[in-house]
Amino acid sequence: MLVVSGARFADHLTPPGHPESPERADVLEAVAARARARGAEVTAPRAATREELLRVHTAPHVDAIEATRGHALMIDADTFTSPDSADVALLAAGAAVQAVEAVLVPGERPHRAAVALVRPPGHHAESRRAMGFCFYNNVAVAAAHARARGVARVAVLDYDVHHGNGTQEMFYADSSVLYVSTHQFPFYPGTGAATETGEKEGRGFTVNLPIEAGATDGDYVRVFELGVLPVLEEFGPGLLLISAGFDAHELDPLAQMRMTSAGFAWVTSALREMADRVCDGRVVLVTEGGYALSALGESLDLALTALAGDATVHAPAAMRPPTGRGDRSLAALAAAQAGRWHGL
Ligand SMILES: [Zn+2]
Repeated sequence: MLVVSGARFADHLTPPGHPESPERADVLEAVAARARARGAEVTAPRAATREELLRVHTAPHVDAIEATRGHALMIDADTFTSPDSADVALLAAGAAVQAVEAVLVPGERPHRAAVALVRPPGHHAESRRAMGFCFYNNVAVAAAHARARGVARVAVLDYDVHHGNGTQEMFYADSSVLYVSTHQFPFYPGTGAATETGEKEGRGFTVNLPIEAGATDGDYVRVFELGVLPVLEEFGPGLLLISAGFDAHELDPLAQMRMTSAGFAWVTSALREMADRVCDGRVVLVTEGGYALSALGESLDLALTALAGDATVHAPAAMRPPTGRGDRSLAALAAAQAGRWHGL
């Protein structure tokens, strides 16, 4: 497994008390060091090119972010720059591209999975605006890169507790990039209803699983086994990208879900096993949110172990039982996507 990680991710500064803190980068670096000790290759990030960004962002947006270089600015109530933020944001998007490259080397693949341990996160960044701590949409840049490299169908699975409005927006009319999201709802950023299913040729290729606050590991197991995994399998991607936020954890200060680290391990194992069957094991994980530092580190350790194939899919006793929230989410999905996905 390849892990892209670097100390530069600590150089994007946010105001004191901001949840998307530079200390998160220290957690990511420690996770990378432990992955290296388990046998992963760790490499430093490179900046995304303008061409790579312009596949999903407008030129005025890229120019606006570039213009923040050297300045501490407030972009919206949640989103702030420091002098190095423009460069660090380029590294976050570039790391996601590197991770895609690592699993797409023609012929013989040296890496079966790759991980980009990055901040700032990306999935709220839209084609023409930064928002919600995000400047460039790292996972979307990665998906577009895979398409440009000839992968016919790319799936993005987003288990961050917030809906990835930016990723949805960029591929809303695109049937070649499937976007599947589990998220607390109603909640920030307000999008992500099950009835948002895509438009034009993309109709049916946005799959939202909004879940009420308070959902447990057991609810997520239901949602994955009966919703997420059947849709992903039926789509049959050539590459699976995971928008991996860990803010559905019970310890997270921003959201009200009750996932445990064991739950994230199960979810990631299930995705890995599906990818082994469907796309020759090509999986790329890109970090998003996760604001309880201890939970972020523990969950990532377990997710990376699962991704490396060192763990089998099982539901540990530490996982909490379902509450009905997962089943209500599945019912909303089935109603919204009636007839589109046979596996539902
Ligand atoms: Zn989030």
